[in-house]
Amino acid sequence: MGSKDLIYFDHNATTPVRPEALEAMLPYLREEYANPNSVHSFGQRARRAVERAREQVAALLGAESPSEVIFTSCGSEADVLALWGGAWAERDRTQGAKRRVVTTQIEHEAVLATCRRLARRDFEVVTAGVDGTGRVLPEAVAAAADASAAVVSVMFANNEVGTLQPVAELAAHCRERGVLFHTDAVQAAGKVPLDARGLGADLLSVSGHKLNAPKGVGALYVRKGTRLEAVISGHQEKNRRGGTENVAGIVGFGAAAELALRELEGHARELRALRDRLEAGVSALPGAHRTSRAQERLPGTAHFCFDGVDGHNLVVALDLEGVCVSSGPACSGGMTELSHVLKAMGVPEKLGRGALRVSLGRGCTEAQVDRFLAVLPRALEKLRKAVPA
Ligand code: PLP
Repeated sequence: MGSKDLIYFDHNATTPVRPEALEAMLPYLREEYANPNSVHSFGQRARRAVERAREQVAALLGAESPSEVIFTSCGSEADVLALWGGAWAERDRTQGAKRRVVTTQIEHEAVLATCRRLARRDFEVVTAGVDGTGRVLPEAVAAAADASAAVVSVMFANNEVGTLQPVAELAAHCRERGVLFHTDAVQAAGKVPLDARGLGADLLSVSGHKLNAPKGVGALYVRKGTRLEAVISGHQEKNRRGGTENVAGIVGFGAAAELALRELEGHARELRALRDRLEAGVSALPGAHRTSRAQERLPGTAHFCFDGVDGHNLVVALDLEGVCVSSGPACSGGMTELSHVLKAMGVPEKLGRGALRVSLGRGCTEAQVDRFLAVLPRALEKLRKAVPA
């Protein structure tokens, strides 16, 4: 099957690079190869391209100033820099008084693994739970986010089920108590409006490849005046992140960010319409349960659990039909494990094994949704016949 016929419904995993971003990048992969830190005018042209992209990304994030944007190699690095860098800076600043980190059970592994590392270095980590829709319990976060907390990290939107989190409320709580507030907005950027300044977040992570820019570039918004200990040492990014800048990737990220901001409203409307069509069709199938039920959620993410099938096997069966989707959780020994997100939401183990995430994005069409709805019952039937529930 040619990639033309492929139905790509896995945009939360990654997105295609949009042509405008690729075009903007090409000169920096060919003739404009100078190091943006070089003094000569060749280098200064690359510098100007990086600074232009910083403005474009700052606009998407709603930063007050482009200088609040640090480019990183990915969203994971931005998360680690925010948590590790923020936690250590606050601990040092307060001579050890602040050594608590507060997060949630449904964060991305970049956040959760950093929290485990901080716990091994004598930080106290408090992990708040979520309700049945995947929305964090704000009281649980707020109760732990007192003056002894160094950083609170709550994602903007969950990558598996799409639930939007009460970040504005939590950011305000943290601000009043002098606690750094970080939000991982990797899945939200380009899909819902971000307003870092208005939100009152101190730190906010994004990733290029989730919004039609290339892989290998991300950014961390760092509110002016926020102290951060560098994770990768070096003089670039005003000593906050060492390493020669990925100029082409940054330029592509900037171009994609500018277009994402311009198209935000219309894109979200289109995604929502496709998602609603898909959800209505899937929900009508026997043994299908819609897991993504939050009032406030990402426009392009749908999540289901199916009776009597294994999510991993369903992904493979749909792949044979030319459809790319994801079961979300890891697969071990041929059996899908219940994801940490579904577990936190209280989804029963047996049901959660039949999980399927469908994530839509640029290029998805109504005709593709309809083809998906035509092949899905066949795939389910085949699997249920092979392994009776
Ligand atoms: N945070 C969330 C919520 C994500 O979904 C992802 C990627 O799946 C990341 C962080 C990591 O981003 P990257 O792949 O750029 O490291």
